[in-house]
Amino acid sequence: MLACPFEKIHPSFLKKDALFFMSHAFNLAIDAWNADEVPVGAVMVHQQEIISSAHNQTRSQTDPTAHAEMIAITMAAKKLGDWRLNECELYVTKEPCPMCSGATITSRVGKVFFGLSDPKMGCLGGAISLHKLEKSNHKPEVTGGIMKEPCEAIIQAFFQKQRSQVSA
Ligand SMILES: [Zn+2]
Repeated sequence: MLACPFEKIHPSFLKKDALFFMSHAFNLAIDAWNADEVPVGAVMVHQQEIISSAHNQTRSQTDPTAHAEMIAITMAAKKLGDWRLNECELYVTKEPCPMCSGATITSRVGKVFFGLSDPKMGCLGGAISLHKLEKSNHKPEVTGGIMKEPCEAIIQAFFQKQRSQVSA
């Protein structure tokens, strides 16, 4: 198995901005690659601290719901002892799919930041906008395009590697 060719980012702890938290999510995507999982990483932030983090684990868990966001959301709720995550921010390297977008709404995540958008399956503006459902009583604030280039490059490289392995 080819080790992930991308290098981890070491952001300064002096400035905890969107780039800081997305860097951590990106590093988790590298961990996902090295575990032979689709390289997507997510962190949940509460009061400027990372309270949970995860990468995709659908293959290792044989669980189609084991997306990075789902795991990070579940862990954050357990940690806070509250299923309502209004005060939390989710950082994820790829725009959430229908399931994960739904989870950000049912868990009432306050803000969602993602890297690359997904015009095919992304449900926070890419394909459709679940966070803008007219009658929904929770609408997360969504910001896309944070560190889009590396988040996109690592996924493209991963699938390219997979295709070359299949054809080899
Ligand atoms: Zn998902």
